Amino acid sequence: MGGHEESGCGDPGAPETMIRMATCIFCEIVAGRAEAGVVYADDSVVAIMDHKPATVGHVLVIPRVHMAGLADADDAIGTAIWRTARRVSAALRTSGLRCEGVRLSLADGEAAGQDVFHLHLHVVPRYPGDGVVVTADWKKRSRELLDHDAALIRNALA
Ligand SMILES: [Zn+2]
Repeated sequence: MGGHEESGCGDPGAPETMIRMATCIFCEIVAGRAEAGVVYADDSVVAIMDHKPATVGHVLVIPRVHMAGLADADDAIGTAIWRTARRVSAALRTSGLRCEGVRLSLADGEAAGQDVFHLHLHVVPRYPGDGVVVTADWKKRSRELLDHDAALIRNALA
């Protein structure tokens, strides 16, 4: 519906961007063309209920303007996302929903598990026995290799 209103949502952008924005579920939610349980909204971000929550109360904080990943997010939007995540986290603890801890996570890129390619930060209420599993092949790495890794990242930051 409203197929000619795509331009209401963000950058002017290239035609490919317009097509992507028109089919992005988070842009549709931001534009009010798709339903979501909105818990917070301001000029920069919207916080909505995840429709398949890891635990009850799982919220997503998304920028209003379409951006795929961290590389597209400037410090101003990063600050807005972080500020909202902190406020939502605090609210979850007093909301009446079970929340004894909070896990924040953000998947940047398909290899990281990103499913919707509109940047979003997960705010997940946690408690003992909540069924959330975070796994990895944790391995000890030598001091020498850690220093090597750190040097590569330092160089990339410079
Ligand atoms: Zn989008």
